[in-house]
Amino acid sequence: MVDHETIRRAPKALLHDHLDGGLRPATVIDLAREYGYTGLPTTDVDDLTAWFHRGADRKSLELYLETFAHTFGVMQWPAAIARVAAECAEDLAADGVVYAEVRMAPELCTEQGLTLDEAVEAMLEGFRIGTERAAAAGHTIVMKLLVTAMRQAARSVEVAECAVRWRDAGVVGFDVAGPEKGFPPTRYLDAFEYIRRENFHITIHAGESFGLPSIWEAVQFAGAERLGHGVRIVDDITTRPDGSVGLGRLAAFVRDRRIPLEMCPTSNVHTGAAPSIREHPIDLLRRLRFRVTLNTDNRLMSGVSLSSEFAALDEAFAIGLGEMEWLTLNALKSAFAPFDERLRLINEVVKPGYAHLRAEQTRVVVS
Ligand SMILES: [Zn+2]
Repeated sequence: MVDHETIRRAPKALLHDHLDGGLRPATVIDLAREYGYTGLPTTDVDDLTAWFHRGADRKSLELYLETFAHTFGVMQWPAAIARVAAECAEDLAADGVVYAEVRMAPELCTEQGLTLDEAVEAMLEGFRIGTERAAAAGHTIVMKLLVTAMRQAARSVEVAECAVRWRDAGVVGFDVAGPEKGFPPTRYLDAFEYIRRENFHITIHAGESFGLPSIWEAVQFAGAERLGHGVRIVDDITTRPDGSVGLGRLAAFVRDRRIPLEMCPTSNVHTGAAPSIREHPIDLLRRLRFRVTLNTDNRLMSGVSLSSEFAALDEAFAIGLGEMEWLTLNALKSAFAPFDERLRLINEVVKPGYAHLRAEQTRVVVS
């Protein structure tokens, strides 16, 4: 097994991480005090941390999502949003993440009167501050924002237009999130069509708690370039008694077209989408060489980092540094940043980084 410090130092890329799912518990308490938010279940850091973890591990996506009321609840003011975004960049950089696309629904930050644009501006300002602080601490990270529309709300076109307005300032794509059941991707076709007409990028939460129809609509109607989770694609794969594997039409399409799966194993265990990491479909999907990427989803609620997700996968499937590099290259090949920026990270950061770590591991001790 690869030791944790080596995993932390390995350059990693993250495509699926929610800004309102990754706050530091102490910051939630600070901001609640500063802005007079009185809804928190406790103001003790350890108790609050435990409360978020308990709240997440309830085997239901709908129940999992309830805990977010207290994170976006304190993200209603520009300085609060910027602080959360800056700390996000610092925490990811310290964990060895060199490229991150972090997502947030700006419509969740409008309860005290902020506009969508003001919320997005504060997030990008926070990323800029956090990236600078991380660099000063010796960690280089590239931070991008994905702008999310919530399924339950009816603001997807407005949110999509906001995403495109900020495309030259660090927003790289548009996403739809929230409860899947009853909210299929085809409900938001206007927003997706607008994004495509603008030559902008789409990823959709699909196939997390809900099955193949959601993935099919996301890919074939909405034009999703990537799938948030996409884990239920295994429902279209059959393992025969002799151990051979058959792919249905949709699974074959997703693999043939190299459509990236933004997989988040621990989060799936918490929402009940998978019974355990060891039984998580990510093992089959990576062995079938789908375009698998490894992600955190919600670092606070699930108590994870990208390094701990790599370690969990290594513990379950002995993936080693070779597969960690493959997952990282998959993520950078699938990222929405411009091609030249991704190529630079691959050739100048990721490949040399893993080569260096492998050389360290195989160093011969001379007597
Ligand atoms: Zn997610």
